[in-house]
Amino acid sequence: MEEMNNICQSCAMMMKETDHGTNADGSACEDYCKYCFADGEFKKQSTMEEWIEDDIRFWIGEDCKTPEEAREKMRKVFPTLKRWRKE
Ligand SMILES: [Zn+2]
Repeated sequence: MEEMNNICQSCAMMMKETDHGTNADGSACEDYCKYCFADGEFKKQSTMEEWIEDDIRFWIGEDCKTPEEAREKMRKVFPTLKRWRKE
């Protein structure tokens, strides 16, 4: 098993080796998962807020029992990711 501790820099998903997206040249993209990024492009263009609302259902679980908790957590995590970070 490959030891990988990457999270997607767009959606914060934990990525296994097979979860990485692809660059335009077909190589594996280090930063983004295949659900966010394929062939060198983001699959979905949206603002961070839109993204959070769309993805909230995936964050409800052990840590976040309600949509409100999930939203709060995402609002902390997402601005630290490369895609959403403001330089
Ligand atoms: Zn992703």
